[in-house]
Amino acid sequence: MKYDRILIRYGEISTKGRNRKLFVDKLRRSIIKAIADFPQAKVDGQRDRMYVLLNGENGHAIVERLKGIFGIQSFSPAVKVAKEIDSVKEAALSLFQKVYHEGNTFKITAKRADKDYHLDTGEINYTLGSHLLQNVPNLKVDVKKPDINLSVEVRKEAVYLSCETIPGAGGLPVGSSGKAMLMLSGGIDSPVAGYLAMKRGVAVEAVHFYSPPFTSERSKQKVIDLAEKLAGMVGSIVLHIVPFTEVQQLVHKQVPENYTMTTTRRMMLRITDAIREKNEGLAIVTGESLGQVASQTLESMYAINDVTNTPILRPLITMDKSDIIEIAQEIDTHDISIRPFEDCCTVFVPASPKTKPKRDKVRHFESYVDFEPYIQKAVEGVETLIIDAYQSKKANELTDLF
Ligand code: ATP
Ligand code: MG
Repeated sequence: MKYDRILIRYGEISTKGRNRKLFVDKLRRSIIKAIADFPQAKVDGQRDRMYVLLNGENGHAIVERLKGIFGIQSFSPAVKVAKEIDSVKEAALSLFQKVYHEGNTFKITAKRADKDYHLDTGEINYTLGSHLLQNVPNLKVDVKKPDINLSVEVRKEAVYLSCETIPGAGGLPVGSSGKAMLMLSGGIDSPVAGYLAMKRGVAVEAVHFYSPPFTSERSKQKVIDLAEKLAGMVGSIVLHIVPFTEVQQLVHKQVPENYTMTTTRRMMLRITDAIREKNEGLAIVTGESLGQVASQTLESMYAINDVTNTPILRPLITMDKSDIIEIAQEIDTHDISIRPFEDCCTVFVPASPKTKPKRDKVRHFESYVDFEPYIQKAVEGVETLIIDAYQSKKANELTDLF
């Protein structure tokens, strides 16, 4: 007896009332995309549950893919068997023997969606439990904390058996919360912000500003590598790379030095907002965290945010650096982020940026020149990459059960 399917549970989205259909559709689409390179595998979506039917594909590799999909609460490899109690007994024993280790305790958890079945849940538990106890020497029952919980689900069409529950990534399916632009630098924070937004169902497109020749090809590559990590969480990601040199040089020519940082940020935000509009996004995500650096005081945010009323999501705003670093390590972006390559902002960073810039002052400094044509030009010069992740992932080794 081998698993032939994976049962997917989606906790949170089942409580979302009338949005439910949308959430389930998005989740199904995420799963189909994640396993597209397993052509025989099929996603079988019913109203209250979803299965991946393996049809001979590598179950272990598919499990690895499912672990990363936002919106899945947990999942269980399972097998479908005929409803005759003798086949259920035989299948249960065979499955059990594959996961059983000497000394393990167990319990049977039967559920009955088919109320016409000739045995009730108590009878099913008893029948299967006795069958295992007769056939596995020294086996003991533990109903409170069993090592192995063999779940038996009787439905109209068949009985399903499973004995492992694997935690999913949680959150909400990608795209179920709309689309946003992620301002992705080469630093530690913005990839973490992107991850948190995506986990909450936001479909993210990344925007990166670079200033050749002041920033090198290698620093661009760093951002592509970070985007690839983010793509790995959702299948693929769009990365817009903005040529920013000209705008930055103009800012430095026009604006007093202690205000260049504020204006530079305002220009980045205006350009990002234009890219957002073009791509029909609804918000902008940044890696800002309160108080970290000069640009991240409330005064500074107030002065920078002035250029748009598009919602700006700052998932890290109240987090401590050490907590951000911990997440960066978990999602495997940290080591890329700490590679020592220059960022367009660090290259042009003024000796003493204003930590409390005044909105009216910065507006005034900017009023001497029309930045709009430069902004348009930067938007037109955007290079857009589509970074695909699943292509390059390799399947892991097989377990016995698949
Ligand atoms: P990070 O670690 O994400 O670089 P940071 O702590 O270095 O953040 P800042 O340099 O002030 O902070 O940047 C604040 C936010 O502005 C970043 O998190 C990012 O969202 C955005 N940002 C900064 N530089 C760039 C860039 N070159 N391209 C795109 N977005 C950027
Ligand atoms: Mg930075």
